[in-house]
Amino acid sequence: MKKINLKDLSLAEMENLTKECGEKPFRACQVFEWIFQKDICNIHEMTNLPLKLRDSLNKIAFLSHLTIANKRISKDGTIKYLFELEDGKRIESVLIPGRKRLTLCISSQVGCKLNCSFCLTGKGGFVRNLKHSEIIDQILSVRREIKSSQQAHNSEAGDITNVVLMGMGEPLDNYENVIKSIKTMVSPYGLKIPARRITLSTSGLIPEITRLGDENLKIKLAVSLNASDNETRDKIMPVNRRYPLERLMKTLKDYPLPHGSRITIEYVMIKGINDTLEDASRLSIILRGLKCKINLIPFNNFEGSNLEAPLYNNVEEFQQLLISKHYTAIVRKSKGADICAACGQLRTGSRVK
Ligand code: SF4
Repeated sequence: MKKINLKDLSLAEMENLTKECGEKPFRACQVFEWIFQKDICNIHEMTNLPLKLRDSLNKIAFLSHLTIANKRISKDGTIKYLFELEDGKRIESVLIPGRKRLTLCISSQVGCKLNCSFCLTGKGGFVRNLKHSEIIDQILSVRREIKSSQQAHNSEAGDITNVVLMGMGEPLDNYENVIKSIKTMVSPYGLKIPARRITLSTSGLIPEITRLGDENLKIKLAVSLNASDNETRDKIMPVNRRYPLERLMKTLKDYPLPHGSRITIEYVMIKGINDTLEDASRLSIILRGLKCKINLIPFNNFEGSNLEAPLYNNVEEFQQLLISKHYTAIVRKSKGADICAACGQLRTGSRVK
């Protein structure tokens, strides 16, 4: 019989399993704490569980472990982690230090189906969805790594404060596993990350955005927009042919935002494609009535791409026009460009979407 990976179970599934082993449901919370808070490697380390339960679990289950295959550190402190999965496929996560936060950008798929022209991940096509365990293990592995390097240097750099689902893959295209993972992240028995510190970024899958709103998870939503008209968006984001801008805007305006929250509009600026003042003006019109802030991200070049970064002046004028229309518009300087960890530059992943 194939053993179950305990890290693939939701709390409800864990309760069923402990019940099947003849134990009360509260044991599931204890198992969850051992796995996701104490980050144990071995079922027998769960010392507050009856030996009988540990033995039963050991017979039918195991705990996966995601090892860091490579790590690169940028001049600006950004760290890119490369993970090898059990089937040999590779994914990346990026740790981005800020003044008061430590943000981990994680992947949700190996590859991506959506083929956005400014993104390296899209170029490689889709391989497979990540499992719940593989999504959560990115956070656990990086946490473990931070802790051990702090111990080695006797320093206190702190823990991961924010998680963004903006790495390789479209999170809403792996809906079930991503939602289950977010529930584990926010669970008081799981990773205990406040929902407001988790951001899910999507290219605009309309039915799944609506479904996400119905989940009432209170996480933040970011949308990779990158164009203000269908013609341009069709060219750089083929998903727009399925879900055109006017439908996407209506969905976003109807989205039940948590109190005080705004949708982040990601706009990758590409020279000669979407970086003119006309683009900025159209953008200000289509966003009217949407509670949002806009992140302007100058395109990061990668090998084999025929797109170019915008001129500095164009970015500034674009931003000023949006500000003059009373939008919050921030130019995001991509971190980690020297180690190919900046937006759109991940070898096996993208942080743009
Ligand atoms: S930007 Fe996101 S949705 Fe588009 S190809 Fe890259 S990973 Fe996929």
